Amino acid sequence: MADHTRADTSSAFETAAIHAGQASDPGTGAVVPPIYQVSTFHQDAVGKTRDGWEYSRSGNPTRAALEECLAALEQGRRGFAFASGLAAEDCVVRAMCAPGDHLVFPNDAYGGTYRLIARVFSRWGVEHSAVDLADLDAVRAAMRDNTKLVWCETPSNPLLGIADISALASIAHDRGARLVVDNTFASPYLQQPLTLGADVVVHSTTKYLGGHSDVVGGAVICLDDDLAEGLAFHQNSVGAIAGPFDAWLVLRGAKTLAVRMDRHCANAQRVAEFLEAHDKISRVRYPGLPTHPGHEIAAKQMRGYGGMLSFQVAGGEQGAVDVCNRARLFTLAESLGGVESLIEHPARMTHMSVAGSSLEVPADLVRLSVGIEHVDDLIADLEQALR
Ligand code: PLP
Repeated sequence: MADHTRADTSSAFETAAIHAGQASDPGTGAVVPPIYQVSTFHQDAVGKTRDGWEYSRSGNPTRAALEECLAALEQGRRGFAFASGLAAEDCVVRAMCAPGDHLVFPNDAYGGTYRLIARVFSRWGVEHSAVDLADLDAVRAAMRDNTKLVWCETPSNPLLGIADISALASIAHDRGARLVVDNTFASPYLQQPLTLGADVVVHSTTKYLGGHSDVVGGAVICLDDDLAEGLAFHQNSVGAIAGPFDAWLVLRGAKTLAVRMDRHCANAQRVAEFLEAHDKISRVRYPGLPTHPGHEIAAKQMRGYGGMLSFQVAGGEQGAVDVCNRARLFTLAESLGGVESLIEHPARMTHMSVAGSSLEVPADLVRLSVGIEHVDDLIADLEQALR
């Protein structure tokens, strides 16, 4: 197959987001990649394909355009697009672990990732230890001879924990393991884990990369050719690929990622400062606040602090639920990273799957995905919801 997947890492981020993998269509001159909504491709003779295209599970031009673009945005060499973030994560564990292997895992991971590791992969003999990744001694102590992966989520969902990517990469590599970073909350515009020593980046492209709450997707990006080969094999063998239209939607979202993220960051900083000064709030978790324990590490490894924050309400669980129910402009919904602001109660919504586990989230916690509306309207809505 022709090399449809090599990334152009030479351009600035904003330029790559619009052009990497997206040259004008050679046939028609269409300025954005067409949606190749096809399952199969005509071969000119047995085994003689046109430019390597055979069958859309193995490769599709629209998906390949997205995969090349994502690789460029993460400063990686190869990208792989999936039907969801969890399908992407599933591929990483399958490709990089075997029965009897062990992985070190954040004790504040996204609930769905926890469910995948603790309830699916444990049945196939992959062991895990849940650790506070901010405590590097605890990470070192959790490493075993059979540890193949350190899995990191920074900022984490929903507690906004910050982990030091370079330090974790050193710990993993010293023990012959690899570092995987879930970069969903930051997006590649704010943080590029591969440049900090990580081996693999995963995304739920459902979130900031898609950016408009209209698609579910996932991605894996890596630097190493051997790893890429294993990921490509598993992507094709298991088959949880992004369809052409979904790939096209994420590609369209990625073009505006930089401008959207700048506004998400500015709005979230203002909202966090408003909440921190509010007497009904007991704690605000936003890495852009100097009071956040991970603020300095975030400043070192991120370009901005992102659009996600969570806070704890003085009124306890009922107080948190009331704020969610009273919000009007913030839509009460799961998911995050779209242009519209969302509010949710993690313990009863996105993180139900960790109830009763060591990853259980505080009952008085509210999570916000701060959108790109006018910030004064967002603050006014929170003010009335907290009244
Ligand atoms: N990783 C993080 C940090 C997430 O927040 C999510 C979903 O919320 C996922 C992975 C899973 O992505 P998806 O819902 O696209 O499968």
